[in-house]
Amino acid sequence: MDCVTYFWTISLFFILGQDGSSMGGEIVYWLGDSLYLNITNRCTNKCYFCFRRYWDGIAGFKLKLAQEPSAEQIIECLERHILRRKWKEVVFCGFGEPTIRLDCILEVTRWIKRHYPFFKS
Ligand code: SF4
Repeated sequence: MDCVTYFWTISLFFILGQDGSSMGGEIVYWLGDSLYLNITNRCTNKCYFCFRRYWDGIAGFKLKLAQEPSAEQIIECLERHILRRKWKEVVFCGFGEPTIRLDCILEVTRWIKRHYPFFKS
């Protein structure tokens, strides 16, 4: 790889985010043995204890999304991380309330169950 290509590869890494998304935040992140899916910033509540009031992420992961990922984009990110280690579960939990996107949750869950039936989700 020449210097120019290397520069653009590194730049794209930072511009697009760790998992290569252009969502401005991580779609997939992990805490302990659990893999988390961050699919929306939206939430109808305003809990006084919500970490969104103070930070834009958690445990070193930036979760505030610039735009919501499609189910296909979520699955694409999931494919990159789902076999990284033996996860205990896949959890829909991120910067907002995921059930706001129930159709998306169902589509991704069906994909997980079809390809990785041993996961809790
Ligand atoms: S994301 Fe969760 S904790 Fe934060 S305001 Fe919404 S319901 Fe409350």
